[in-house]
Amino acid sequence: MALPKLDVPRYPVTIPSTGEEFVMRPYLVKEEKVLLLAMESQDPKQIALAIRNLIINCIEGELDLDTLASFDIEKLFLELRGISVGEKIQIQSKCQECEHPNDVEIDIKDIILKDHDPNSNIIKLSDTVGVTMRYPTIDLLNDMEGDLDSLDTLMNIVTSCINTIFDNENIYDCKKENIKEVQDFVDNLTSDQFKLISSFFQNTPVLEYDLKFNCEKCEHESSYELRGLQSFFT
Ligand SMILES: [Zn+2]
Repeated sequence: MALPKLDVPRYPVTIPSTGEEFVMRPYLVKEEKVLLLAMESQDPKQIALAIRNLIINCIEGELDLDTLASFDIEKLFLELRGISVGEKIQIQSKCQECEHPNDVEIDIKDIILKDHDPNSNIIKLSDTVGVTMRYPTIDLLNDMEGDLDSLDTLMNIVTSCINTIFDNENIYDCKKENIKEVQDFVDNLTSDQFKLISSFFQNTPVLEYDLKFNCEKCEHESSYELRGLQSFFT
């Protein structure tokens, strides 16, 4: 006999870096199992893959995860977890005085994307010419193995992350332009202009939470700044 199926609720969700809106459903018990197994493995690659698959399954519509910044994926996952298993996360944190491990509860709503300014991606290079930027995707950063501080790598990242180039008359979509021409554009920037663009990456938003708790053993108040998704799931 066919048993009744339950309706799954749906929630609106906004992609932080682009402002695009989508609809998301909570993850199901069978999907949570896969996630928990990945987390137990403590293998960052498995965890990233499980999170990625969860988001793909639960978001409706055409969302290309490969174009998202890593903080987009982290924020989406937090929201997904919030609607799926609740807004509270339990973590264990050591007292800064006596090192006693304390159980502390975090509200997902209080985890913020720090430094997130939706307009920071528009950079004017002169009175008439400017660029709009996008944040590096996880894949791009993985491809840029080696020295992330070298000028070559930085120039490659900058070239890959220029979304559009604009002047008073036109907006040029760099995905549609010849990559060589975009490289030439970057090569011909002045040092000051290049610094303007690269400062965009230094202000990449990060998930952040100020953790404060009084130790249950010695009552000392500890405070930590938690940054990045992995610090909430240890
Ligand atoms: Zn203590």
